[in-house]
Amino acid sequence: MYLNNNSANCTWRSLARNKLLNFAYQFGLERAGRFIFKNYLTVLNYHRIDDPNRHGFDSFKPNVSARREDFAQQMDYLMRWFKVVSIQEIVRWLDGKSILPSHAALITFDDGYADNFLNAYPILKERNLPAVVFLTSGHIQNDAPFYWDLVAYCFYHTPQDTIIFPDGHQEHWNNKTEKDRVSSNLIEKLKILPDDEKTAWIARLPELLNVSIQKGYFKSLMMNWDQIREMNKNGIDFGGHTINHPILTRVSLRRAEDEIAGSRTRIEDELGKPILGFAYPNGGKADFNQEIEHLTANSGYRVAFTLLNGPTSFGEAMQNPYAIRRVFISHKHTLAQFSFLVNGFNRYRPS
Ligand SMILES: [Zn+2]
Repeated sequence: MYLNNNSANCTWRSLARNKLLNFAYQFGLERAGRFIFKNYLTVLNYHRIDDPNRHGFDSFKPNVSARREDFAQQMDYLMRWFKVVSIQEIVRWLDGKSILPSHAALITFDDGYADNFLNAYPILKERNLPAVVFLTSGHIQNDAPFYWDLVAYCFYHTPQDTIIFPDGHQEHWNNKTEKDRVSSNLIEKLKILPDDEKTAWIARLPELLNVSIQKGYFKSLMMNWDQIREMNKNGIDFGGHTINHPILTRVSLRRAEDEIAGSRTRIEDELGKPILGFAYPNGGKADFNQEIEHLTANSGYRVAFTLLNGPTSFGEAMQNPYAIRRVFISHKHTLAQFSFLVNGFNRYRPS
């Protein structure tokens, strides 16, 4: 998953900008700078493919990258204007064994949610598109939730309109918007807590919000190894995303190494083939550094992905294959916004 503080604002400025973008998209203006980005690798970053507003969606909504039908449209756009490559083709190119086509694009997913198998995979398979899914291996086929999904679940199901935290701090909400704000603030707060403290907070949350959790609920939120093996037989590659999804700069180097190497070993054991790629959890500027890049290289990965704004030039990728940029996709993006993002319009904005 990826968290940032830029919540979508619905001001007249953003509405006007969207109108302008839609207008520009009608005329193909998003491709105006296409020649500049000819020798660039565009890596798309998805998390979940689902409808966050469907009845019963009770996990963390910002982790939804696209609804199924939007994802299909986005894939059609990519097929029309880009050359979609696999992670294996990228590694062959890095090894000097082949060339990368102009306007190369790689489709990636982080975390390993079941909707990747249920909703994204049929669309990819139908179009014969390769992709790579970075798995948080400790959460696969396991009932332990990611903390952001547990927080979202508890706030969705709580009968209360107040929470009293273990430190005595109290929050109250009068409506859904206020409740969402309390829930988002808690996730932001948890994100920067040391792991032990975070675990202790999370363990208390269902009780604090008077929520019971059905056994196995979170297990079915994630893919299982049989689904992963089936996808792997049909053109989808898998990569590491740690075992437990810590932000690697916030844990000891020893722990970071275990997390990076451990997810690779587990996935290789399950799939019986070498794993090439890794994605840094959260992937922002503060979430990895040169030491983490070295650990990733030494753990046997050939390439690693960040969430700094992409695309990455072929020269940059060749020079450092352990800091490849990506284009973050959100379910809030329209097709026009998507088209501008994949055509490099955010590349030189601060990540
Ligand atoms: Zn993640």
